[in-house]
Amino acid sequence: MAPRGPRSAGQLRYTLFCFSTDPMSSVTLLAAIGSLAVIAAVLFYLRKGRSKPRCAECGAPSRFGYSKHAESDRKDIVPLCLRCLTTKLGNDYQTQGSRALVIEPVANLPCYVFQPNSKWADSKLAQETDVMLSRLNGACRHCEREANFLWSASQGLSSSNFEEVFSEGLSPTLLRWGNAAPYAVCARCCVNLIVKTLEKHDLTLLEVCGPQPENGFVISMGY
Ligand SMILES: [Zn+2]
Ligand SMILES: [Zn+2]
Repeated sequence: MAPRGPRSAGQLRYTLFCFSTDPMSSVTLLAAIGSLAVIAAVLFYLRKGRSKPRCAECGAPSRFGYSKHAESDRKDIVPLCLRCLTTKLGNDYQTQGSRALVIEPVANLPCYVFQPNSKWADSKLAQETDVMLSRLNGACRHCEREANFLWSASQGLSSSNFEEVFSEGLSPTLLRWGNAAPYAVCARCCVNLIVKTLEKHDLTLLEVCGPQPENGFVISMGY
């Protein structure tokens, strides 16, 4: 078999020679390069635009998607910055009748959402939450306002075991993974604790939603 290298190089030289001697081919080549450059620039711009969404309220860079209900359609998830998210969550948590077990958000799970106990009636977590909330009638541990929430740390919670927390409840999961029993907090201190964690771990979340006026739990999850 004849060696391919020199033949290929010869063909390349021939092709370049044709382009350099035929003005129409040169124009075509330049037009093609120009078109590719324009397409590359447009793609780069779109990518850049997509990866840096802006807050729908104030225009600052956004790292959070905010919705009214868990698992909302993409079109119903509003991009927000941390400051505007804090305001929205402040309103949600102070809504009359909202009571929830709130498990500290974790990295590597893209959603941090309220789940009503009624929707997860068969899960151990919902059943445990109902019992714990029925016993909750005291003051916030941090400020002594009325407490409507129970705060739990989330050490050990990850994408591989959050479903176990749903099905098994806290006792064989979070409480065994080194977290203390949940304690009573008011709406304002609860939002402060959430925001402090978001800041500390520099979290970015696709969907965040606050409680509704019913019993439930707030947990990091993926779906
Ligand atoms: Zn904003
Ligand atoms: Zn408080």
